[in-house]
Order: sequence, then structure tokens, then C-alpha cells
Amino acid sequence: MQHFPIFLNLDGRRVVLSGGGEVALAKLRLLLKTTARITVFAAAPAPEIEDWAARGLLTLHRRAMLPGDALCAALVYAADEEAALDAQTARIGRAEGALVNIVDNLADSAFITPAIVDRDPVTVAIGTEGAAPVLARRIKADLEARLPATLGSLARIGKGFRKMAENLPFGRARRAFWADYYFNAGPRAMDQGGESAAGSALDDLLARHLSGDPARGRVDFVGAGPGDPELLTLKARKALDAADVVIHDRLVGPGVLELARREAQMIDAGKHGFGQAMGQDDINALIVAHARAGAHVVRLKGGDPTVFGRLDEEIKAVTAHQLPHAIIPGITAAAAASASLGRSLTKRGRNSQVRFLTGHDTKGFADHDWRALAVPGAVAAIYMGKRAARFIQGRLLMHGGAPDTPVTVVENASCPGQRTLETTLGRMEPDMEQAALNGPAMTFIGLAPRRAQAALPDTPQAQETF
Ligand code: SAH
Repeated sequence: MQHFPIFLNLDGRRVVLSGGGEVALAKLRLLLKTTARITVFAAAPAPEIEDWAARGLLTLHRRAMLPGDALCAALVYAADEEAALDAQTARIGRAEGALVNIVDNLADSAFITPAIVDRDPVTVAIGTEGAAPVLARRIKADLEARLPATLGSLARIGKGFRKMAENLPFGRARRAFWADYYFNAGPRAMDQGGESAAGSALDDLLARHLSGDPARGRVDFVGAGPGDPELLTLKARKALDAADVVIHDRLVGPGVLELARREAQMIDAGKHGFGQAMGQDDINALIVAHARAGAHVVRLKGGDPTVFGRLDEEIKAVTAHQLPHAIIPGITAAAAASASLGRSLTKRGRNSQVRFLTGHDTKGFADHDWRALAVPGAVAAIYMGKRAARFIQGRLLMHGGAPDTPVTVVENASCPGQRTLETTLGRMEPDMEQAALNGPAMTFIGLAPRRAQAALPDTPQAQETF
């Protein structure tokens, strides 16, 4: 190890930087995270530097550095990206007793600035002695993804609680408490109620750990997205990583399920359109039973859990047993399907609202405000609309819907078997019947694929009348 990592106290210390371009900006953005007194020398400073100077965040001299300019500086950065000028800066810096860094010149630098993951007061510094910057970037990206964004605030709150935590025996019990706080209870409380909730979560958590029964189960209602595993949120991935039990819908595909922790117990609570594979009460009971036994249950739902997912019934069951829960949103099928059409769901001058409808509800085909839906320009995304196609078509036509209103059905949006059926309100039912759709399908009323418009300029779907 040629470069020894240390954390330097820059509070109130002088840091001098010569340079006013891109490289200087990148270094200054990092330095501005500190409480150092920063002085910049630049004949032609970038507007951002001017702005920082105007706001009093640094002192700016619009000239090259001269002997005497680095007096009392702890660090000097030569960031002019010009060898002669950088060498001059370095000479002055060294002569005046500062540690010098010439940006992108490892050999002539006394120190290097690592890649930083900033969760202040937690700071991770990554260095490769200049050998593999790509590797440093990858490690940084991995850590950025892995460490909760709120970790810094949690660490600050936790610091004030260290004395209280000493009520737990030193060693394993105390470590388990802090791990539970930083990676479970803390981030959850922070998500739900901000810093004050994260603070009070500490008291509850300590009480539980002191009682000797820290293992309390919990339930995350997680949106699995429309099928493509890359459309999962980072939070969903983390929940899957940590799950003891995963209870999933039929809609959740194998690519997503594979991301669950190896040891996790996987339970398929798949439901079918009408009749159900497992009744809702059975699912509720299953979630509660596992969580009460101390498991971290991930209730994985296709798309977004708050859209046509009977989420409230499950939450009611969970809260009835005082089990903690969280909702992790996902990308709903309508969003994935509209993206596949190259279309936005709303458009200025066309539709200022979009409706998410279900084709059927517990009583059968669902009734809606058909008159409003039949208005020219109206856009609706219909979930579970396959079997109800004839019913929907009939109602819309009956309420004045134009037969040439575009209708687009996207089957298996974001999945390998994705198919798009382009039709009109007048032809919707026979076309859908003929297409023999057998995957989940999103039916859009009032929306045509963008590509078809360019290709077929004379067809009704092609006109920008909707
Ligand atoms: N919570 C889910 C919707 C559950 S209802 C979400 O937010 O997406 C189930 C219906 O969603 C299906 O009948 C179908 O209409 C739609 N759907 C779900 N995944 C889909 C996909 N990949 N492609 C098209 N439609 C989908």
C-alpha cells in the first residue's frame, strides 16, 4: 500500500485550488462538502465558481497563483489541466508547506482524492492507487445502491443514543441492536415518518431487544413491476434480498422471483381472473401467520401494490395484529405498456386526465362513467379488460364513443412475449377475440402506438384527433 488512507480534519483549514474549468469544478463540488476555507485562483472561472464565490462559499481570485498564495494551506489542488501551469501551482504549494495534488498526475502528487460514498457522517473512501478507476467507480456504484440514502441521518441520530444502548450487554446483543436499527427499523421509520420517527424507533427497538425478543416479524408490500426484473425499484430488490418468506402473485414472473434471497421460502398465492387459486382470506392469514412467527414477509404484487391489488384488505389484516408493515411502490402495468407504445398517457391539449379502470370487479363486469370515457380525447387504461372487451365496447359505443377511437392492447408489457394489438373501438371485441391473448393485457382507450402513426398516415388511428 503506497497511499495510506486517512480522514483529514479540514474544519476551518485553508484549501487552495488553481483552475476554473471542468476538473476544478469536480474537485470543488467535493471540497464544498467540507467546512474548509476554500480559495480559488482562476483567470477564467466557470459560472458555477462565480456563483459559489458570490454566495460566500469560497474566495475567488481572478488571476493565476503567485508565491505566497498557498501560505497556511493544508491542501493545494493544481487543477488547470495544463502541465506548465499545474507544475507552477505545485511548486508554490510545496514551497509553502502544503500537501499537493495535481489532478490526473499521480506521480507528482503527494496525495490522491478517493472516490467517495457520502452518507455523512459515514464516509466511504475508495482508492485503487490509480490502477483501476473503473473498478473504483463500480464499487462506488454498488455501495451507493446498497447503503440506504438515509444512513447518514440514522448514524447521526444513533450517535445520540449510544449511551442508552449501553443498557444492552456489550458484544453480540448490542451489535444485533445496531444492525437491526441501521438496516431494518431505522430506514423503515425514516421512510414513514422522517427523522422524528427514526428517533422514536430507537426507544421501541431497545425495549424489544432488552426484553430478549427482538425477532418481530414484519411485512413489506412490494411492487414487483410489470415483469422485467430491471424495472424493479432498488427498495424492492433490497426487500427481496432480506426476505424470509415471499408470497407472490401469479403475475410475478420467474426473473423477479430469482432475485429473492436463496434461503427464502417462496409461496405462490396466484389468483386467476375470476375464481381464485387461493382465497383472499387465506392469503391474509398466511401473511399474518408468517409475520407473527417472526419472519420478514415480502408480499410481492405485480406492478404497483396500490393499483387493483386488494392491498387495503391485507394491510387491515396485518395491522390487526400490530405487525409493522411498509409499502414499496412499483411500476404499474399502464406505465410499462404506454412506454412500449412510445406514448405519454397525458398530453397537453388532448387529455388532462387519464383513468385507470378495472374490467371487472367482485360483482362481475365493472360499471364506470361511460359518458365521460366516450368523450373524444379521453384516455383510459383498462386493467383486467380482456373478458370484458365486448361489454366495454358496447357501453362506450352506446354512450356516444366514436367507432374510430383508437384502442391498443399491450399483452405481456415489458416481458419477452410482449405483443401489441392495434385496433379501434368499433373493431375492438372481434380483434381481441381473434388475437387469442393469453398473457396479462392492458387495454388503452384513446391511445395508439406512436410508430403506427408514422407508418400509416391515412388510417383513422393515425390522425391526431384524439
Ligand atoms: N397491481 C398491478 C395490477 C394488478 S391487476 C399493476 O399495478 O400493474 C392485473 C392486471 O394488470 C392484468 O389483468 C393486466 O390487465 C394488467 N397487467 C399486469 N401486468 C401486465 C403486463 N406485464 N402487461 C400488460 N398488462 C399487465
